[in-house]
Amino acid sequence: MIGAGVVGLASAAALLERGHDVVCLDRLGPMAERSTGTSRIFRLAHGSAALVDLARQARAGWARWSEAAGRPLIRDVGCLISGAVTLEWTACMRKAGAPFEVVGPDWPELGLPVRRAPDVLLHDTTGGAIETVNAGTYLVGRLGEALRVAAVYALEQRGSGARVHTPDGPFDADAVLIAAGAGTSPLAAQVGIYTPTVLQHHVRFTFATSRGGPLRSWIDETPGVPSTYQHMAGPGRWTVGGLFGNATVAWEVGRDEAVRTSREAVVDYVREHLDGVEPTVLDELYCTTMAELGDGFHLRRNGPFTAVYGDNLFKFAPLLGDLLATAVTEGTDDAVDYL
Ligand SMILES: Cc1cc2nc3c(=O)[nH]c(=O)nc-3n(C[C@H](O)[C@H](O)[C@H](O)COP(=O)(O)OP(=O)(O)OC[C@H]3O[C@@H](n4cnc5c(N)ncnc54)[C@H](O)[C@@H]3O)c2cc1C
Repeated sequence: MIGAGVVGLASAAALLERGHDVVCLDRLGPMAERSTGTSRIFRLAHGSAALVDLARQARAGWARWSEAAGRPLIRDVGCLISGAVTLEWTACMRKAGAPFEVVGPDWPELGLPVRRAPDVLLHDTTGGAIETVNAGTYLVGRLGEALRVAAVYALEQRGSGARVHTPDGPFDADAVLIAAGAGTSPLAAQVGIYTPTVLQHHVRFTFATSRGGPLRSWIDETPGVPSTYQHMAGPGRWTVGGLFGNATVAWEVGRDEAVRTSREAVVDYVREHLDGVEPTVLDELYCTTMAELGDGFHLRRNGPFTAVYGDNLFKFAPLLGDLLATAVTEGTDDAVDYL
């Protein structure tokens, strides 16, 4: 296993549970790159009924993990969707038989810190906010000594198995799962697997909110305002991430400039459109994302190597762990796309 983000940890935990020998290597230690931070949005709502159904399976996995962890790993605050995708995502929820309701701006339980709410909102009643730190702690506990800090710099096929090269020396494995986030593409390419290479910058900013009570998670794609992902990042803390175009977040723009212009746009948005949210950035969470991927996830295999990629994977983690454990041990088609 290469990578101890939430995907690698979930997969390693599933393999251990099934009685396999597993070593999970990470160059930085667990939950260090795209899985870092305190919170993520969980939602059933997606732009395809198939993804709604996969998210529902993942939600059952989160319930199992929460029970085993002895505390809820998802805060059940619901997730609201508004703007351009609302109609399509509502239709997908309906088609998948998922629970939802359509609400208006005057709904007394809206739970959003906004000056003026959108006219129509899809309320994904099963959605909420993932407690990412607790999820990481739980998974790390399950891995125990199977987790090691080591950078993998080369991979090669040896007979029907794999050789994994680290600065501490090589070791051999029957199969290797490459779940290395931004590090997946260069490793996968060494063993003949193509995964997308074009990266973008993304930042989520956290602000203080004086709004009491639990606030809902929110995805807003209302025309005329920046598209945003928003959710609680802890008591009194509200997080806003903007979905900006290439001119702002393309790789060539550079991290510093992308963060600066994203920050300016998000702070302006908070000042103009949110209510009870102080427009001073308390915290920034930066990561690379992959250009034009959106929701869904993808498996690629070549001999003993399986690679996984996708852009919004946290919510799917328990499901991904099971799917990837099966793919690695029982085989899978060379290319499987869950869209
Ligand atoms: C700001 C932000 C907001 C997000 N919001 C949401 C959301 O609301 N909902 C949602 O579901 N998802 C969300 N996501 C996406 C989600 O967090 C990621 O898709 C998920 O955490 C990816 O996990 P991963 O295990 O694939 O990758 P990572 O967490 O990046 O883990 C990969 C690991 O591989 C290691 N690695 C890389 N190369 C090597 C190497 N050569 N050798 C050894 N180790 C290596 C890295 O150190 C890293 O720890 C968000 C992400 C960010 C950053």
